[in-house]
This record gives sequence, structure tokens and C-alpha cells, in this order.
Amino acid sequence: QVAAEPKPIRRLNENLINKIAAGEIILRPASALKELIENCLDAGATSIRVTVKDGGLKLLQIQDNGCGIRKSDLPILAERFTTSKLSTFSDLKKIATYGFRGEALASISHVAHLSVITKVKGDTCAWKAAFSDGVLVDPKTLDKAEPKACAGNDGTTITIEDLFYNTPTRLSALRSTSEEYSRILDVITKYAIHNPKVAFVCKKSGTSAPDLSTPSSSEIPATIRLLYGHSIAKELIHHELSSALPKNVESESMDEYEDSRDEDPSSWNAELYFTNANYQAKKMVFLLFINHRLVDSPRMKKALEAVYTNILPKGASPFVYLSLQIDPRAVDVNVHPTKREVHFLNEEAITERVADAMQQNLVQQNHSRTFEYQV
Ligand code: ADP
Ligand code: MG
Repeated sequence: QVAAEPKPIRRLNENLINKIAAGEIILRPASALKELIENCLDAGATSIRVTVKDGGLKLLQIQDNGCGIRKSDLPILAERFTTSKLSTFSDLKKIATYGFRGEALASISHVAHLSVITKVKGDTCAWKAAFSDGVLVDPKTLDKAEPKACAGNDGTTITIEDLFYNTPTRLSALRSTSEEYSRILDVITKYAIHNPKVAFVCKKSGTSAPDLSTPSSSEIPATIRLLYGHSIAKELIHHELSSALPKNVESESMDEYEDSRDEDPSSWNAELYFTNANYQAKKMVFLLFINHRLVDSPRMKKALEAVYTNILPKGASPFVYLSLQIDPRAVDVNVHPTKREVHFLNEEAITERVADAMQQNLVQQNHSRTFEYQV
């Protein structure tokens, strides 16, 4: 048999490359929303209002009262690798592992109709811009365009319409709009709990009553009560812990100690809210934030659920909120940066410390309860 002729190698066209990259970052409406919420929080918003139509596939709109975007920045807003959050290589080392180095809005503009209305405080008017494939365009003709002046409040409103209109396979993989809507509510619920000072609202377009609404200036336990209910909130244990102090701390001056701690990529701290033995759910509810980003860690989830093996009856599960702050340099770079699932340095050791702390608290509580019963 004669070997087949080799086919010529061709360079993929840039639009196709961008579309492939976009598909890896924006998996579904809820993953687009997560990016947008993080942008609002980065912009210092204290109010975030989300409007949804057809599970976010028809419309996903998010309005914040943050710092806004300057008119002069709008032309490159949706280009890949344009960001206000990183400029030097040493910055990069610190935040590269979160994955979204100015890629979120660019990605969205490749798989949806994206438009922005934004106003910087003190400016006389707001500016409106539409984007297609990274470029600022006239939404009707799709020709290159300039931002248009319009009325608007301080802050930014991002509108995503017809998500995945040009990637039919992705669209057909998302069959149920109610499933997508519940994922959207889940993302907002979790960010609302982690950011109790920020007011969150989520509603379906065309309805007046929101499906989710939190006040500003609240606290984590109150927000858990509001969004997950009293039965969880009344059984919560709060605990904070951190990496042990380095040895020889006495021999160093405090300044040096602060410096060395700053330099130590293995230092970390954790805040926990978890239910005691009185609460039983069918499925574990696990909220994990690493450096304020909502992430998945099935391994950590399993390890923390295992703490309850001898505490809850078989088949019953807890609620656990864990906010971990670790040195950004300790996040494992080998994991695809756009995946929500993360690995980090000393993951096992940190998980063990957290699990131990939970265990101790739970056992202590059980003891005091037994004691109460005895007297
Ligand atoms: P990144 O967040 O990694 O910078 P994005 O594509 O998410 O990348 O956003 C690009 C830039 O657009 C941000 O760096 C920020 O300057 C600006 N931006 C996006 N959303 C907002 C917002 N809601 N408020 C103010 N600025 C925003
Ligand atoms: Mg972003």
C-alpha cells in the first residue's frame, strides 16, 4: 500500500482560533455570568442586578454601580488580552493562574451579541458600544463604529444576547433553559454569600418580582439564612484558621517576620461556616472560594464531607462554606487555566488542617450536647 500524500499544514484563521478559545472559556450562560460578576466586583460595585431570558441564552444582562469604563477604553474592551488589571510580568506571576487575562469579554463577543452601556462618575453622559468578534461595531451593519452617547447611571451594564447563536453544537448541548436558569441562580447565590456587603438581584426579564434579592451591607450568616434558609443558618459553626507561624519567629524582628510571611508562598488562611450534627441534607452543599473566585474541587469536597461520616446518619450531608486565601503563586499552573477546577500547592495538607478543625468543632459540640442531656 502506498502512503497517502501528506496534506499541507495551514494556519487557522484568527477568527476561528478566537472562537475555539471562546468555547473553552464560556461553557454556558452561568460561566459567562460568573465572569461578569467578577468584573463588577473588581469594579467596586455595591449593587449587581441580573436580568435573564430563556435561561440566559436569549438575554443575560448585568448592571452594576461600579467605577465604569472610560470612553477611550471602549474600542479595545472586547479585544483578547486587553485588561486594566495586569501590566507587568510580576503581576502576571500573581494572577495568571486565574485564567482570565482580559479574555472574558473578548470570548463573549465571539459567541454572542455583546453590548455595553457605561458611565464613569462625573462624566456628563453614558456611552454605548456593541461588539462583534472583538471589534466595536454598529449593531445593525456590523461595520466598525464609535461609541454612542446616551443617558445612563454611573456604572456598567453588560448585555449578552443570543449566546452561542453561531455555535449550534454548543447551543444544542444546552437543552433546558430552566436548568440553565437554576445554574445562574446558583452562581449568584454563592457570590452573594461571599460578598454580603453587595446587593444582588436576579430576575427573569418581563417579570417584576425578583427570584433572588439580597440587601447591601449584610453579613455572611444572614445571607446564608436568606438564601439557604433558617434550617441551615441556625446550625452553623463559624471557624477561622491559618497556616502555622514559621519557626524561629522570636529570633526575627517583627518587620522581618512580616516580610518573610509576605514572601512565603505556602502561607494561607481560611474562613469556614459549616453545619453541625443537627442539620441533614440529601446532597452536600459546598461553597468554595479560593482568593475570592468561586471554584470546584471535588477532592476537597469529598474530604470535607468525610468529616461527617461518624457524625451524621448514612445518606445525610452537610452545608459547608469555605473561603481560602492562598498565595496566588501557589496555584498549580499545570491545570488548564480556564477550568473552574483548581489544584494548588499543599492542597492535601491544607485540606487536612481544615478537616481537622471541622472535626474538632463538631466533636466538641457533640460532647457539650451529651453533657446537656446528662444534667
Ligand atoms: P479581565 O477581567 O481579566 O481584565 P475582562 O474581559 O473580563 O478581562 O474585562 C476586560 C476589562 O474590561 C477589565 O480589565 C476592566 O477594565 C473592564 N471591565 C469589564 N467589566 C467591567 C465592569 N463591569 N466595570 C468596569 N470595568 C469593567
Ligand atoms: Mg474579568
